[in-house]
Amino acid sequence: PPPGAPDIEIARAVKPWPIFEVAQRKLGIAAHALIPFGHYKAKLDLSQIDTTSKVGKLVLVTAITPTPAGEGKTTTSIGLADALNDIGVSASVCLREPSLGPCFGVKGGAAGGGRAQAIPMEDLNLHFNGDFHAITSAHNLLAALIDNHIHWGNELNLDARKVSWRRVMDMNDRALRHTLVGLGGPAHGQPRESGFDITVASEIMAILCLAEDRKDLQRRLGNIIIGRDRDNKPVTARDLGAEGAMTVLLKDAIQPNLIQTLEHNPALIHGGPFANIAHGCNSVMATRTAMGLTDVVVTEAGFGADLGAEKFIDIKCRISGLKPDAAVLVCTVRALKMQGGVAKDNLDAVDVDAVKLGSANLKRHIENMQKFGLTPVVAINRFPIDDAKELSVIKEVCLSLGARVEEAQHWAEGGVGAKAVAEAVKTILDGEAPDVQFLYEDDLPIDDKIRKVATSLYGAEDVQFNIAAQKQLDEIHQLGYGHLPVCIAKTPYSYTSEPSELGAPSGHILPVRELRLMAGAGFVVAICGDVMTMPGLPRKPAALSISLDDDGEIVGLF
Ligand code: ADP
Ligand code: MG
Repeated sequence: PPPGAPDIEIARAVKPWPIFEVAQRKLGIAAHALIPFGHYKAKLDLSQIDTTSKVGKLVLVTAITPTPAGEGKTTTSIGLADALNDIGVSASVCLREPSLGPCFGVKGGAAGGGRAQAIPMEDLNLHFNGDFHAITSAHNLLAALIDNHIHWGNELNLDARKVSWRRVMDMNDRALRHTLVGLGGPAHGQPRESGFDITVASEIMAILCLAEDRKDLQRRLGNIIIGRDRDNKPVTARDLGAEGAMTVLLKDAIQPNLIQTLEHNPALIHGGPFANIAHGCNSVMATRTAMGLTDVVVTEAGFGADLGAEKFIDIKCRISGLKPDAAVLVCTVRALKMQGGVAKDNLDAVDVDAVKLGSANLKRHIENMQKFGLTPVVAINRFPIDDAKELSVIKEVCLSLGARVEEAQHWAEGGVGAKAVAEAVKTILDGEAPDVQFLYEDDLPIDDKIRKVATSLYGAEDVQFNIAAQKQLDEIHQLGYGHLPVCIAKTPYSYTSEPSELGAPSGHILPVRELRLMAGAGFVVAICGDVMTMPGLPRKPAALSISLDDDGEIVGLF
């Protein structure tokens, strides 16, 4: 296919290796350790794989504040893994599984793009190996057990008005945001108000991604708070006796999935938590498995570094004990132009001044990463219209902060286009390990944790809790959950809670509207601004252009 051909055409032009061959040649694992799903996909049977003899290095891929289209973290993660293999390093990539919501909504998959994709991309983007189905089922089993418990006498004295556990579905469907359940009379349960979230927003998704193993998964499922009783005391999934059956439904879903990049390198794709009300990274189990099988593991954290990298380190690394050995910060000229004030529809014109102005955004992201002890390699994800003068503005900013900076062309060229980035990363990995620091300690109170993130990363002067959030804060401390890390849900388009505040604003106040205790996942969500846990479809959904052709092949999927 010519440069710029649709992703699906580029993907189809490559003949994938049988998955057992990828497993054997690239990971050194035998066919009996695979649970195959057809010829090109498999789950890894962790009981059959020894991951203890190696601890590979971990590379975090993050980005500057993105445009709504995304700046290329997934694409760069894949391109970098391919490029590392090209220069003789055994490397794999660990990514999240895509949700059906965005596939059928605003056009865009999550399998990379151009010549840096994970294949088979159709399968990855649609249903994949059934993990989301299993998570949906485990979530809705708990919901059914709750309503059933109330129906049969409500021994736990649950307050039907305070059941916070909703139902989930992997679809963008705004009509389900608010529902009434239990209508139809006494035989049909007790009427109460409820609603649906998208599956990736389920606490079970976050739990699956943070669990260390099956036992830890079951323990965390039991800890889920589903609502309150008449004395306003929290009631857990364990109180209902639900966690055993939920774990059964997830027993296969906790095994990581293996597919391949366009260049036949291993891609472990597992879990897909939201990057706002959850931590936005692939599973700990997949990351750890990959580190036990390849020398270098490249992984992505959702949104810009203010959200993604912070949560990766303060939540995923804190809970699991994993630590990144290097970081890559993806930057594009067009995103900096947008940060410099250029409207979203005018990003195709050269504008050196806007890049200069917008580079304040890049500068702060680099400085923020340095607060974690990681000076990132900046990868400029190249677009054809980028101008040499614009590129040199970016390079100057990076070099002034001691960060290496390289142009990357993997979208157009595949792994070979990311060779310079791979060399830079390898140099860092070959040097002394960084001293990675959390931003705050466990014993700092929840409000001070949020304040610490806001003031040191977002440039905020302070945080402000509204009355409801203040009450929730006191309660979380009273209940003994003050030691948990915080997961900040705010717009990814600004350091502030307002998407229109561009560049690197400072002196603002971060408003906290609501705190949600995720006792199972093990963090406290701080909601700052609007967050959507059940998205809707746009006026012209991508679904309307997706179909099968006469040969039964999918057309119109990106
Ligand atoms: P992120 O993971 O940061 O959200 P993705 O890697 O998914 O971003 O990329 C977002 C979209 O941009 C994808 O459709 C991808 O194919 C496209 N894209 C990425 N890099 C380039 C590039 N250099 N040129 C053109 N399109 C690109
Ligand atoms: Mg991505």
